[in-house]
Amino acid sequence: MASIRDLPPVHRFLQDPTILAWVEKLGQKVVTEQVRAFLGHVRGEIQRGGSPSLDWNDLLGQFCAHLETNSGRHFREVINATGIPLHTNLGRSPLAESAARAAYLAGCRYTNLEIDLDSGLRSSRQKPLREVLCRLTGAESATVVNNCAAATILVLRAMALNREVIVSRGQLIEIGGSFRLPEIMATSGAQLREVGSTNITRIGDYEKAIGPQTAALMRVHTSNFRIRGFTQETSLEELIELGRKHSLPVIDDAGSGAIQDPASFGLAGEPLPQEAMKAGADVTLFSGDKLVGGPQAGIICGRRSWIEKIEKDPFMRAVRCDKMTLAALEETLKLHQDPALARREIPLLRMLSRSAEELRAIALGWATRLQDPRWKVEPIETHAFVGGGSLPEERLVTWVVALTSDAPGETWAKNLRGSRPAILARIEKDRLLLDPRAVFEDQVNTLVESVKQAWPAPLNR
Ligand SMILES: *Cc1c(COP(=O)(O)O)cnc(C)c1O
Repeated sequence: MASIRDLPPVHRFLQDPTILAWVEKLGQKVVTEQVRAFLGHVRGEIQRGGSPSLDWNDLLGQFCAHLETNSGRHFREVINATGIPLHTNLGRSPLAESAARAAYLAGCRYTNLEIDLDSGLRSSRQKPLREVLCRLTGAESATVVNNCAAATILVLRAMALNREVIVSRGQLIEIGGSFRLPEIMATSGAQLREVGSTNITRIGDYEKAIGPQTAALMRVHTSNFRIRGFTQETSLEELIELGRKHSLPVIDDAGSGAIQDPASFGLAGEPLPQEAMKAGADVTLFSGDKLVGGPQAGIICGRRSWIEKIEKDPFMRAVRCDKMTLAALEETLKLHQDPALARREIPLLRMLSRSAEELRAIALGWATRLQDPRWKVEPIETHAFVGGGSLPEERLVTWVVALTSDAPGETWAKNLRGSRPAILARIEKDRLLLDPRAVFEDQVNTLVESVKQAWPAPLNR
């Protein structure tokens, strides 16, 4: 029988060479607290009548595992086997290696964030981003903030504070989280003037609403839904023409802002910032971490006079990007200058351009490696979504590996979420689906091993 009296004292742990290595990393205080907590668990188990092994090596091993789970970082690597490349809960787009390296260097060294190295004088952190954004989109000027929600508020404040912005009722979107256009509009201090109906808004509806209070016309990309059937939307071009006639600026909230045309991946229907600029929109705004495939950011491109006004707003300071984001974004945008390079280096674009053939071959390979008498393995053809409020209907043809067993699929998926790295899979009709599209090559071995280890034995056997 295990007895509380036989438990080793705290200091015995703290003298052990294995634990001393942890003390180096985490500090004496944290490790001591963890030893106490661990001994508390063991004591509790004994008090409840359990008889845990009190063998020193067993205890040491368990304590190390306890430290591993209780003092590690919260944020860790996740293998995304859901097939959704832009998964907001998984951090949207993974960065290109070179972009992540740029952020790493900006993070652990000093950088010329706001200094001109030629003159030694102060410069703007926006300048390098502005240059590359203007080249990519043909805009006169550009600026970058924390995310597209912040960009929307800044644009509305600069262009329509205490005045009206005309928006179609079919475009009053909610993105998720708390981004609802009417609420963002209220927060910004601009007044929403809704026109048209949910499914139909004609150019005449906008024109009738124009009055002395009107400050701007706004088009919002319905990025995460589509209205089907008896519908009519006013094109950006028509809005711009109307704006010219009445000397009103036009705002284009593009949301996902694809710089490489998704049509070239067989995906259509996303607005391109360069097209909005060419058509004559005053400003277009989009996220850095959706189809751009970079870090979280809100990008505003447009006329110099508006960008200057936006940059003078004190709120700009509250939502500015830090050096790591700017370094990663600059690098990502530089990759976009060469479409072939962008496709090769930006993981999101690589994932979107994977063909059904390629995915089928990978799924067949995984299926072979996952053969096991405990379950049935089938490669199957199915559909996936891009995610992240982009291309809501562009269901990508995809191949997945389906695993069926007597054990509940939900438990299998839960165990996988607890693996290291964590693995996220889909469950469909109690089958575990593993989708190769968003899994990196170097994650495959871990994935295969973890799937085998995470299988829960069926309950009634
Ligand atoms: C995603 C999206 C936003 C919000 O962008 P964040 O970068 O997530 O803040 C705004 N507008 C549209 C149309 C969007 O699709």
